[in-house]
Amino acid sequence: MKNEKSAIVINSIKKSYKSGGNITHAVNNISLEIPFGEFLMITGRNGSGKSTLMHLMALLDNPNSGEIFINGEKVSDLHESQKMKLRLESLGYIFQEYALIQELTALENVMLPALMINKFSVAKKQAVSLLKKVDLKDKMKRLPSQLSGGEQQRVAIARSLVNNPKIIFADEPTANLDSVASKHILDIFKKLNNQDNITIAMVTHEPEEYIYASRIINLRDGKLNEK
Ligand code: ADP
Ligand code: MG
Repeated sequence: MKNEKSAIVINSIKKSYKSGGNITHAVNNISLEIPFGEFLMITGRNGSGKSTLMHLMALLDNPNSGEIFINGEKVSDLHESQKMKLRLESLGYIFQEYALIQELTALENVMLPALMINKFSVAKKQAVSLLKKVDLKDKMKRLPSQLSGGEQQRVAIARSLVNNPKIIFADEPTANLDSVASKHILDIFKKLNNQDNITIAMVTHEPEEYIYASRIINLRDGKLNEK
């Protein structure tokens, strides 16, 4: 499988969990190539391995076996600190539950990943510009508890973009939102994909969101079916 022109290539990835006497093959021998510029949607029932696959691709977890290439770079050759750097600089991640730090304002939440890679001088400017881009110009100084679910998710999107990643992952980003807030999120993703050429891998349960995708794949019991 080629690996130079793709945002992500995974070859024969496996991840199992042991609990009690049972082994769950959460991701069971998946190979997948995500070209630059794709808007990939990942579907499948609860427990089919979607979140595990997303965590592996986003370097939030390590597979038991198999290879992962991010931007053509083989991840298993990297040390943990290099992996963390690659993750912070090249990948954005958006969670269903937003995962904002409650004690920090929207602006501070968005600045945080930039501060983590010592971009002190540009962090604020970049965060302000991204919060404007997700239509939160007037709410930057608010705490997460003072924002609606849709607004919090837009803060999380801005945060995922602060270090200019070329790839973002979103795991059921609209599952907690009403249809208006969901559409707002999807329209932002569409613009990021179309105008900024950001590669997106997103998990969804909502068939009405499929129209935004350039490709849809389905997981079943840790295995992949192309749709
Ligand atoms: P999905 O996101 O499609 O609902 P997950 O990737 O979360 O699926 O889970 C896939 C399978 O792996 C499920 O059977 C789940 O119970 C199991 N699993 C996921 N994470 C863990 C874990 N940390 N420990 C044990 N089992 C896990
Ligand atoms: Mg999941």
